[in-house]
Amino acid sequence: MERLDELKEILKKPRRIVITMHQKPDGDALGSALGLHNYLIKKGHDSTVVTPTDYPQFLKWMPGNDSVVDYEKDPEKSVKTVEAAEIIFCLDFNKLNRLGGLFESVEASDAKIVMIDHHLDPDDYDDFRMSVPTASSTAELIYDLILLFGDESFIDLDIAECLYSGIMTDTGSFRFNSTTPKVHMIAAELLKKGVDLNKVHGNIMDTFSEARMRFFGYCIKEKLTILPEYRMAYIAVSAEEIRKYYLKTGDTEGLVNYPLSLDNVKFAALIIDRTLPGSKETLIKLSLRSTGSFSVYEITHKYFNGGGHKNAAGGISSLSLEDTLKKLLDLLPQYKEQLNTD
Ligand code: 5GP
Ligand code: MN
Repeated sequence: MERLDELKEILKKPRRIVITMHQKPDGDALGSALGLHNYLIKKGHDSTVVTPTDYPQFLKWMPGNDSVVDYEKDPEKSVKTVEAAEIIFCLDFNKLNRLGGLFESVEASDAKIVMIDHHLDPDDYDDFRMSVPTASSTAELIYDLILLFGDESFIDLDIAECLYSGIMTDTGSFRFNSTTPKVHMIAAELLKKGVDLNKVHGNIMDTFSEARMRFFGYCIKEKLTILPEYRMAYIAVSAEEIRKYYLKTGDTEGLVNYPLSLDNVKFAALIIDRTLPGSKETLIKLSLRSTGSFSVYEITHKYFNGGGHKNAAGGISSLSLEDTLKKLLDLLPQYKEQLNTD
C-alpha cells in the first residue's frame, strides 16, 4: 500500500471512522467491513459501518452486525455519520456510483477516503489506496492491512470469523482461480483463531428458505437455456417471477453458478428484471461468470455500464429484459472462437 506510514500516523489518534461498501453487499463486502470495524474498535477508534442498502439474511449473524447503519432504513443517521467522519474506508468497490443513495454524502465529505478493493480499473476518488485485482477478496486485503500495521495479535475470533466469511464467499468456497497458496495460509491462520468452519459455512450456505430453493428449481427446470455452439448458458428472470416467489435480498445469490457448472459451458449469465414496482425506469441487472480466458469484465465494462473481475462481473441495463438478452446474445458471434478455444 502506498503511503502506509502516513495512514498509520493518522490512525495513531482515535478517529471518527465510517466504513462503507457497495450496495447490496455480499459476503466479502460485509465480512471485510465488519472485520475492519471490529479491529478499529479494538484499536480505540469510533467506527461505524454504514451500508448503502440492505443485505441478505444469511450474513446477519456476523459479529458487529447489530451496529450496522442502513442508509435505506435510516438515511438521516447515515448521512450524519458520514458527515461527521474523519476517515471513510470504501471497501470492495472502486466506482462511486456503486454506493447508490450514499453516493452524494460520501462525495461531498471532507474525510480522507481509503479505498481497499480488488476489482479491475479503479476510479480516482481516494486519498489512500490498496487496490489489488489479483487478491481473492477484500477480506484478504483487510487481513494484509492488519499485518502491515503490525497488529496480527489483535485478530480475535470475531475479526477472524468476518474475514474468513469474506474470503470463503468470494473464492466460491476456495475453488476459484484467485485461491492462491497465500489464501489458504490466511484461512489457516484464521482457523487457528478458533473459526468454526462448519458454523460459518452452514450460516451462509445452508440457510435457504423453501421459496428460494423452489425458485432455484424452477429456474433450472424451466428457465435455463443452453447455447452449445457458444458454450454459453443463461437464465433470464422477469420481475413478475421474482414477485411470484416472494424473493428477498440475496435469494438469487449463487444461482448463476448452476449454468456455469454445466459440462462444456464457459460463460454463464443470470439476467434479472429488478425494476421497482410502479417505476417507469427499467432496471435490469446482469450477473456474468466465465471460466478460462474469456473475460466477462470486458462484456460488462464495454456494454453494460458495469465491472468486476475477469471471471465474475456484473452490470446493468435500462432496456427491457428481452432487449437486454438480445443485446447480450448478439455479442456472442464475435466471441465464438475464443469461447471454443479452451
Ligand atoms: P455479482 O454478479 O455477484 O453481482 O457480481 C460479480 C462481480 O461484479 C462482483 O465482484 C461485483 O462487485 C461486480 N459487480 C456486480 N455488479 C456490478 C455493477 O453494476 N458495476 C460494477 N462496476 N461492478 C459490479
Ligand atoms: Mn469482493
